[in-house]
Amino acid sequence: MTAIKIAVIPGDGIGKEVMQEALKVLNCLQEQHSSLQIETTIFPWSSDYYVQHGCMMPNDALATLQTYDAILFGAIGDARVPDDVTVWELIMPIRKHFQQYVNFRPIKSLPGIASPLANGKEIDFVIFRENAEGEYSDSGGRLYQQQPQEMTIQNTIMTRIGIEKIVHAACDYAKQHGKTKITSATKSNAIIHSMKFWDEHTSKTVAQSSPALQLESIYIDALVAYFVERPQNFEVVVASNLFGDILSDLGSAIVGGLGLSPSANLNPEKDFPSMFEPVHGSAPDIAGKGIANPIAQIWSLALLLGHQGRPDLEQLIVKAITAVLQEGVVKTADIGGQATTAQMGDAICQEIINRT
Ligand code: ATP
Ligand code: MG
Repeated sequence: MTAIKIAVIPGDGIGKEVMQEALKVLNCLQEQHSSLQIETTIFPWSSDYYVQHGCMMPNDALATLQTYDAILFGAIGDARVPDDVTVWELIMPIRKHFQQYVNFRPIKSLPGIASPLANGKEIDFVIFRENAEGEYSDSGGRLYQQQPQEMTIQNTIMTRIGIEKIVHAACDYAKQHGKTKITSATKSNAIIHSMKFWDEHTSKTVAQSSPALQLESIYIDALVAYFVERPQNFEVVVASNLFGDILSDLGSAIVGGLGLSPSANLNPEKDFPSMFEPVHGSAPDIAGKGIANPIAQIWSLALLLGHQGRPDLEQLIVKAITAVLQEGVVKTADIGGQATTAQMGDAICQEIINRT
């Protein structure tokens, strides 16, 4: 059996702290499951690296990463480096170069975690956010600067192939997981060029993918309200880059917060490595204190293993996380306890051992 090669980029702040716990879980899995062969390499690309070298990662970084099966990423962000540098010189080049056009986020309620929603119903759906085009484009600019008619234009670029690929990925997931409904976020009543195009190709793609899949298209303004009022009605949500970004953060908020939310930047064809990372940032306010919640990072590792053909280990990790939360003894500060980052990692490892 060939080893899964994982490139590990811990990044900044709590990224480094929570990554240690993910690696602890990975070690524990390897000790328990001799069939799991993993090779990890740690890359120190971060804001510290930028301060030393004047760049976030070396010139050959993408070529190096390309030789790996997957990337496990921590978090990036530091007061010494402008935000647009950390994003555009590290995260974006990786996402674009490796055609990680799907941003995947599970939104799942967990035992013992208070949701800000009052109704307490179980929430369990996933979001497929288009990750490579759409509203986040550098096409546009400013005109008539310093004149009264000064203005800006920001273009949205959507391609038929781009829409087909993200919607296909959502449909494939639905079919593999026994889901029957796809919800598409739109605003074609007001954004009449790009969003009508989105609607048209979304509905064609869903129909082509499976006659058994039902498609509902909901205007984004109504959809955010439904996320709060009846989140239990969703199964698979597919959205453009901007709408998906907003829905993903809202999704993580309704199930109890950033410390618990994993994400994946996927290249579904597996032509290139996919990247797995917690939704949260480097959290400078709590960095260095050893109190960050490592669950989002550990769950991101679980998604990685699932994507690499080990859904059994993905489920094992998620079950171990769920069991620790259900017991409610070990809790970090963000979820109302006093446990340290390391104690949470240890508790999850212990649950993995108990279950093997
Ligand atoms: P970035 O720009 O890097 O996304 P941010 O300030 O927008 O940074 P985060 O770094 O995610 O966002 O932090 C937002 C808040 O959530 C902070 O108060 C932080 O302490 C808290 N937080 C984020 N992640 C965790 C975690 N894993 N455990 C506990 N608290 C966390
Ligand atoms: Mg942020």
